[in-house]
Amino acid sequence: MLPLFATLLLLLAAPVRDTGVNAEPGAVAAAAVVAPAPAQVSNAGAALTTAPAAAPAHVTDVTDVVAGYADEVAAIMAESLARGRAMERLTALCSTAPRRLAGSPGYLAAAEWARQTMLADGLENVRWELVEVPHWVRGSTGRVRLVEPAAHAAELPMLALGGSIATPPGGITAELVVVDSLDAGKLLGEAARGRIVLFNGPLDPTLPTTFAAYSGAVGQRGAGATVAARQGAVASLVRSMTTRLDDNPHTGAMHYADDVPRIPHAAISTLAAEKLATLVAAGQRVVLHIEQNCETLPNEQNPNVIGEYRGTTRADEVLVVGGHLDAWDVGQGAHDDGGGCVQALEALRLLKTLGLRPKRTIRVVMFANEENGLAGGRGYAKAHEGELPRHVLALESDSGSFVPRGFSSDATGDTRELLAAIVELLEPWGAGTLVQGGGGADIGPMRAHGVIQVGLKPDSARYFDLHHSPRDTIEQVNPRELALGAGAMAALLYVAADIEPGFTREAAESR
Ligand SMILES: [Zn+2]
Repeated sequence: MLPLFATLLLLLAAPVRDTGVNAEPGAVAAAAVVAPAPAQVSNAGAALTTAPAAAPAHVTDVTDVVAGYADEVAAIMAESLARGRAMERLTALCSTAPRRLAGSPGYLAAAEWARQTMLADGLENVRWELVEVPHWVRGSTGRVRLVEPAAHAAELPMLALGGSIATPPGGITAELVVVDSLDAGKLLGEAARGRIVLFNGPLDPTLPTTFAAYSGAVGQRGAGATVAARQGAVASLVRSMTTRLDDNPHTGAMHYADDVPRIPHAAISTLAAEKLATLVAAGQRVVLHIEQNCETLPNEQNPNVIGEYRGTTRADEVLVVGGHLDAWDVGQGAHDDGGGCVQALEALRLLKTLGLRPKRTIRVVMFANEENGLAGGRGYAKAHEGELPRHVLALESDSGSFVPRGFSSDATGDTRELLAAIVELLEPWGAGTLVQGGGGADIGPMRAHGVIQVGLKPDSARYFDLHHSPRDTIEQVNPRELALGAGAMAALLYVAADIEPGFTREAAESR
């Protein structure tokens, strides 16, 4: 996932949205098309102008309507916990296609598995929609060797970063320089020339969530090679993006700038990074040998996999639920994002099994290429642009399959109030909190079109122990935690897709 991307979008959009919501003609048009809520709007206005101290009347109204869904929510959660199939499906996905990076044969195997699963569940309009994706392969060789000081010679746990070029045949041997941030790297100047630069900034453990810590550090992975090469470095390394101190290396996406030479970029384990930094800080001359033969092949066509549970009386209004079907080529992508994919599939299956068919259509989308391009999310928004004015809300699960605490959204005003009331129905299962935040990278491109963004928020403490690493396997997923998330998503979707008067879309032009 790309929390940094989501954060940037939020920061860029916030000032505009705050001043422009009511002035935008797009807001009125969108509300008229989808789900007008005149009672909510007029009551809110009255409350603000005439009785600011009293509880606005519409709060009670919304709460009462939402409370009417408590029995259905309980039934959905019970079905998921007693007879859910999320774990069975995640096991199938992780054994059918453990390696499923964009462009790989594994991705196509996963896409066919998803299509067959949707057909088996009786979903409607099941289809593939192709998007163009990059095709990067890790190759057969990847090593970082500590050569000097000779007394410390050792192989260091490493993974090439997605998008990196190979080293020349025979590898690169050079002296190491260490910095503790991307900004510090920009100040290296001549000290970087001919050297290997290690970006050793750790994830900040004092931040409230590991996602915030990841966002603060991941720029070193994405842009480290560019910063180092701009000053003449011959290769670059990054400390793995994890809060743990261990020997488990974590891969992820990196990118080059057009005006700078491309140099190889790889991640080493946090313990290896600590060891190198300690030697350099002690005044030792440290020499590394780096060798990797990863490469970028011609682009491929990969599908977003789509199916629907058609609504009853408002079937042309759509709620999207999804995760990304691609995963890094190490481990099995069990938490990132196999779990999110099976939770999205399971949400529709639970509702169908219980005979709960809401008024609006719920569309499940398994997105392609989130990890190294976001072509699936961008492609969906582009291909469905004409239909997006009738997309009400999009929900993504891409923060791990750990125990759900609630949901995140950057929605405001009446939209947020209604969303919070629905989420609160999940309080008995510990998932009743609505926090500020984006929905997910894949649904992000729909945000500019006014589609309400919602993300499942599991506990984040352990996510970056596993993320993008060989340890992200099925054994790390707890069946009950996975089922709690699937049930919570199904419950939120059901109420949001069925409730009247329903959500008023966000103002598209103001975002
Ligand atoms: Zn992800």
